[in-house]
Amino acid sequence: MAGAAESGNDFGVSACLAVTDLPRAIASHDADDSVHAHAATLMAELLERGLRRLAVTFVNHAGSVLVKGVPLERLPQVARHGVGFSPVADAFGATGLIDPQQSLARPDGDLRLRPDLTALGPLDPASGWAWAPGVRHERNGDVYSLDQRGFCARQQTALLAAGLSAQVGFEIEWMVGLPEPDGEWIPAVVGGPYSADRLVQGLDYLTAVAEALDAAELPWLQLHPEYGAGQFELSLAAAEPLRAADRLVAARLVIQQVSRRFGWICSFAPLVTAELVGNGGHLHLSVAEHGVALLGGGAGPAGLTPKGEALLAGLLEHLPALMPLACALAVSYRRLAPGRWAAPFRVWGVENREAALRLVPAAGGESAHLELKVADLSANPYLLVGAVLAAVQEGLRCPRCLPPPLTGDPATASPAEAPRLPQTLTEAVLAFAASPLLREAMGEGLQRTVAEARQAEVRRSDALTDADLIASTRAWPFATGPA
Ligand code: GLU
Ligand code: MG
Repeated sequence: MAGAAESGNDFGVSACLAVTDLPRAIASHDADDSVHAHAATLMAELLERGLRRLAVTFVNHAGSVLVKGVPLERLPQVARHGVGFSPVADAFGATGLIDPQQSLARPDGDLRLRPDLTALGPLDPASGWAWAPGVRHERNGDVYSLDQRGFCARQQTALLAAGLSAQVGFEIEWMVGLPEPDGEWIPAVVGGPYSADRLVQGLDYLTAVAEALDAAELPWLQLHPEYGAGQFELSLAAAEPLRAADRLVAARLVIQQVSRRFGWICSFAPLVTAELVGNGGHLHLSVAEHGVALLGGGAGPAGLTPKGEALLAGLLEHLPALMPLACALAVSYRRLAPGRWAAPFRVWGVENREAALRLVPAAGGESAHLELKVADLSANPYLLVGAVLAAVQEGLRCPRCLPPPLTGDPATASPAEAPRLPQTLTEAVLAFAASPLLREAMGEGLQRTVAEARQAEVRRSDALTDADLIASTRAWPFATGPA
């Protein structure tokens, strides 16, 4: 079934950009003349290429991509001073509504969203749009302590300082549907699971997606029909962690834009209908210490090195606490049923597609890596990647014994051998909020306000029937159903 696909990320491919200095570039993104001059040079290059407008994005606590658009001529000023964004944006819920019980649900304050110039590039050259991920700063120039990308950058910096490096790649699964007035879900492309029929039925669409990805300079490895009706999958090339999260954000915008051109709704929702399989947002990760890979070439199970075992044990330990970051919507937990290849078990396995952590041994030019298969696309990728890096570092600092890999279907193993991960968002938030590791890594304010956002999502879902809950985020990130 769906898991028959190969891993989808070529970890032999190195990052296209030298972004080792990226977190430092963010941290010291001071309002000095050199930023202005650098931005002016980049602006001239982009104008020369026909780009005219800039979208600067960030991803809020609920996982929505928020944006400010500016004329490209304003880049030097915007790079230096940012554009205003209210802190209330992190209190926007899954459907855009603000639950007043959150501490960020207040009208005052302002932050300055500054584009990261090291990540600036085209988004849709045909319409003249460039794009850059942004980081929100206080007016005094400090990085806002609740900024998700700032958190991810700090974790990447800490990783590098410890002599470690990581490569991350995301797989995006999505479905395309016809715009039905009553919200019914009708797949926009026919054809069976993974079938070439669906490839040719949707050939114009997939060609347009591929061309748009190329135009946005987003390197990709695989693009094909997935298992579910009207479902497709894209594997992005691996990159440094922050860059990988950036690419996920941009690639989803590209897919949305192309789908819109075809008159279709594209959904990244964890679950589109109760009957269909869900959409995952799997995270692939490889880690090296001083350039030596930790997940392969060792004498441990499946070639793990002792440090590879330790980091895997650390991830397993912290997995329940990571869940509200990997699966942020209430409906995410409806996807996490056994047999849907969504990997809802707190186990690791070698090429086991029902294990939350799937080890993919080195093969065919790919280095060994891990797949966090349980994650879906409601995740804020910056929070998820930052937290995963924190868990990896903790696992290496405090090595634990790694249980044996789970072979076969975890659903047929005993609960002691194959425990389930949290089965509701409520359960997951308790683990998240109680995690000393995440408090330390994220800071008290970020951890608390993300927990508040998840509790708001729990309250939203508690007011809905199961069917209405699925309908309400059916076309995530667009709200189509009852709020
Ligand atoms: N669609 C499955 C999910 O929800 C994953 C299928 C696969 O790639 O194995 O994560
Ligand atoms: Mg897949």
